[in-house]
Amino acid sequence: MALGSVPLVLDSRPDTVPPGTAAADVVGTDISGLRRQAGAAGPSDVERVLGARVDSRAAALADFAVLLSPAAAGRLEDLAQLAHATTIRRFGPTVRLYAPLYLSNECVSVCTYCGFSAGNTIRRRTLSVDEVVAEGAALRLQGFRHLLLVAGEHARIVSKNYLVECVQALSPLVPQLSAEVQVWDTETYRRLVGAGCDGLTVFQETYDPSTYAAVHLKGKKRNYAWRLAAPDRGAEAGMRRLGIGALLGLHGDWRADAIALGAHARALMKRWWRCEVTIALPRLRPAAGGYQPADPISDSEFVQLLCALRIALPDVGINLSTREPPDLRDALVRLGVTTMSAGSHTEPGGYASASDAEPQFEIADTRSPDQIASVLRTAGYDPVWKDWQRS
Ligand code: SF4
Repeated sequence: MALGSVPLVLDSRPDTVPPGTAAADVVGTDISGLRRQAGAAGPSDVERVLGARVDSRAAALADFAVLLSPAAAGRLEDLAQLAHATTIRRFGPTVRLYAPLYLSNECVSVCTYCGFSAGNTIRRRTLSVDEVVAEGAALRLQGFRHLLLVAGEHARIVSKNYLVECVQALSPLVPQLSAEVQVWDTETYRRLVGAGCDGLTVFQETYDPSTYAAVHLKGKKRNYAWRLAAPDRGAEAGMRRLGIGALLGLHGDWRADAIALGAHARALMKRWWRCEVTIALPRLRPAAGGYQPADPISDSEFVQLLCALRIALPDVGINLSTREPPDLRDALVRLGVTTMSAGSHTEPGGYASASDAEPQFEIADTRSPDQIASVLRTAGYDPVWKDWQRS
């Protein structure tokens, strides 16, 4: 047979999700049906869910859909009170603080909404391992004991070996390290865990496959299923903290993405019950980098979503980044936020010394970590810099 007629498989990453994974549970969930329930819910449905037992709400995605409904928007004060009480009961008055450490803004993928996209002419930079350690040391001096290592997708420059070296070098300095980098196979995650990385963050960006295909134009990130199953691979490899998220507003119907996000978190908590699951709620805004979100989510809808998540998934961590302005961040702590970044730089470098590399996005909350810790204490919350130590 001529070679030209043999289908060459150059990519070993399957484009379907493996059975028995949380990703498969998400794919098998009737998101459209739940979305219809959210649209059709009336005041009596909202009343029923607000009055239900905590365990029964947590068991039913349909109840989460009701809490996201336009009908529930009219009960925002009740949602807020219940979310606050649920947060205090499950987490106490504590907020964990972390900082993102950008390793590189090199990227070979093209994503329509991101400043690091391969086609953009921006100042690019990849930190050397020594520079990464200097950044880690500067952040440690600020109080941080939990760092999130972030990088664009460039398998040659931001290679597996480079990532493992960065983690190994930082590990003696920083007890909690998480990675938000291109998605890898289980074996690579095992290497990262062995080097001292215990958390994996993978935002699906949008759970709607058509929108996903429309905004991820080029690169490995185009493989929806491989990305969706990445948290499963991380958990299998021994990551003890899993972070997921959707870029709210990317899809033309934020409620549908929110329902899928809730379904994913619930499936991960069920399948990988030893892991701690945290949801991030990054919100795209019309002004962000000139990108126009398909369905911008307003402040009050954002609050409704956060409360609905807290009420329907009482054990899930909720992470709020410095994309949101100070006043809103402070208010949302009372409603369910359990993890916050502080004093963030979203370009490689910038903590130990000034950097001229391009940031991924502009931050709205520019307060220092000390200022944020002080605001939390004044509000009656304990800022937690470290909650776990490797043995
Ligand atoms: S979202 Fe990630 S993969 Fe896409 S362009 Fe930005 S850094 Fe690259």
